[in-house]
Amino acid sequence: KESITRENNVAKIKVVVRKRPLNRKEISRKEDDIITVHDSSFLAVYEPKLKVDLTAYVEKHEFCFDAILDEHVTNDEVYRETVEPIIPIIFQRTKATCIAYGQTGSGKTYTMQPLPLRAAQDMVRLLHQPAYRNQNFKLWLSFFEIYGGKLFDLLSDRRQLLMREDGRKKVCIVGLQEFEVSDVQIVKEYIERGNAARSTGSTGANEESSRSHAILQLAVKKHIIVTDTRRHRDRDRDANESKNTKAVGKISFIDLAGSERGADTTDNDRQTRIEGAEINKSLLALKECIRALDNDQIHIPFRGSKLTEVLRDSFVGNSRTVMISCISPNAGSCEHTLNTLRYADRVK
Ligand code: ADP
Ligand code: MG
Repeated sequence: KESITRENNVAKIKVVVRKRPLNRKEISRKEDDIITVHDSSFLAVYEPKLKVDLTAYVEKHEFCFDAILDEHVTNDEVYRETVEPIIPIIFQRTKATCIAYGQTGSGKTYTMQPLPLRAAQDMVRLLHQPAYRNQNFKLWLSFFEIYGGKLFDLLSDRRQLLMREDGRKKVCIVGLQEFEVSDVQIVKEYIERGNAARSTGSTGANEESSRSHAILQLAVKKHIIVTDTRRHRDRDRDANESKNTKAVGKISFIDLAGSERGADTTDNDRQTRIEGAEINKSLLALKECIRALDNDQIHIPFRGSKLTEVLRDSFVGNSRTVMISCISPNAGSCEHTLNTLRYADRVK
């Protein structure tokens, strides 16, 4: 009974906005901070505009969300507001998704990177609690990227992965490496390894990673004890340990491609145009899927993109979604900021 009540306390879909501080460059250019956070759920954007006669004025846009985190909020507070409440119900068959959305430079990676580590810390702690200690639960980690509509494993030399749907419409990513992680230090090492493998090009600049979606998953699985006789028959056992496990719940952390990249569809470079179209398609499909989920629609339009197809099994059944919309405060980002807030508003 108690677990059911607790589950219901966590909203199915939660939309949070995070505003980053002005950076040094913006300050040196004397750019205005055009975002005012009025309270924990209400903000205003003051858009600088010119009239036809070139007199300047500001247009005010107001938005409400489940939570608004201003520039003073730490990553730890972000964790407590977004992911922490979901962790206990992952042990009760919930599939959770935490998504960072926003233009390049708005703080998606800064926000997202520490979250899986904090989540793993709490999950490992729960595994050792009396309620779960004897259940043979184990924690597994995988980390991959969707780039130009293709999947790459970030933990096995960017090997390309294929997606397959089984008879019961369950999506599986063929060849995706999953690692059992029993302590937080190991989780940290995998995250660092995966991040280093992201498509950042040689300069490590934001440029390339802004065109890819990075997906890190932490899954709780129940280990099934295999009797000796069966163990001998199961010749592949060592090759794929996870065969003897049963999925309980999982959480996916998604660092999306820069939202402005979806507009790269008129770029001179053909490759950039193709990638832009793919990003645009996936962000639109994501929005449609979350809205369908929120309305308890029976038909969820997963097939709209690679991203949503990959997320299919996270969106069916008992699921929770948190979207963190990251925004830049500077006047120069106004148009992108408004686009991000409107997207978040439609998901809400
Ligand atoms: P994105 O992943 O959306 O392209 P990043 O996370 O790389 O953006 O952030 C861009 C820059 O802004 C980075 O140098 C990052 O350290 C900084 N930054 C982002 N958010 C914050 C924040 N809340 N506080 C301080 N610095 C931040
Ligand atoms: Mg980034």
